[in-house]
Amino acid sequence: MAGGLIVTGGGRGIGAAVCRLGAHAGWSVTLSYARDAAAAEAVAAETGGVAVRADAASEADTLRLFDAAEEAHGAPLGVVVNAGVVAPGLPLAEMSLARIEQVFRTNTIGAFLTAREAARRMSGGAIVVVSSAAARLGAPNEYVDYAASKGALDTMTVGLAKELAPKGIRVNAVRPGLIETEIHASGGAPDRAARLGAQTPMGRPGAAEEVAETILWLLSPAASYVTGTMVDVSGGR
Ligand code: NAP
Repeated sequence: MAGGLIVTGGGRGIGAAVCRLGAHAGWSVTLSYARDAAAAEAVAAETGGVAVRADAASEADTLRLFDAAEEAHGAPLGVVVNAGVVAPGLPLAEMSLARIEQVFRTNTIGAFLTAREAARRMSGGAIVVVSSAAARLGAPNEYVDYAASKGALDTMTVGLAKELAPKGIRVNAVRPGLIETEIHASGGAPDRAARLGAQTPMGRPGAAEEVAETILWLLSPAASYVTGTMVDVSGGR
């Protein structure tokens, strides 16, 4: 599959795996990142792609990301709405307004801005939204804010898929479970995926590549009649 592919948060973790597998499948990659320029530039070098520092929660940055992608590779045929954050695990009763706002600003408003720009600029192809198993599990005593910020993306996926089907654009979401990436350390629990992954039906955490494989399939013509749905990549959890 050839064409321009935009991956938000493509410098590390699941996004980086999507960039690598996407380049291997023939996609021309543009990736965004927030802070870690070295990681993002390494992925760009490895994939022959373009790295753009762009805060997903900023409208101006999002427009700049899409402009850079169009300049490099033409109108995107694939967009992966991946950038996301967690905050340290807490019961909702102990969460500050600043924390809740930050989680929703990046995960939900950021995803809406990326998806809106994709809807404006694509004339065919596929959008894949990276939600979370937390959207259906609720993440009690850890990240109810995060879980709800992803639940909104499931709803966006259902509605946007119906809006864009007449334009020949498919919109789906993946809901990863416990995946080994640095996001858990950023929430203060670096061993979280290994610890809780052992308690899942498959008895292990997932790898970023296992999520990326599903995303690449949803982007590809092999998923030509799949839209408006959520695919769980969670080892049975
Ligand atoms: P990660 O390893 O922490 O990587 C996150 C990536 O997103 C980094 O490249 C980071 O950029 C970028 N990013 C963060 N905030 C951003 C912002 N405001 N604007 C632009 N880019 C931003 O996380 P991950 O585990 O791969 O997570 C990727 C997605 O999967 C997230 O949406 C997450 O919620 C979802 N997910 C993950 C899991 C899991 O267990 N890992 C489970 C379910 C869902 P920098 O490198 O510059 O910091």
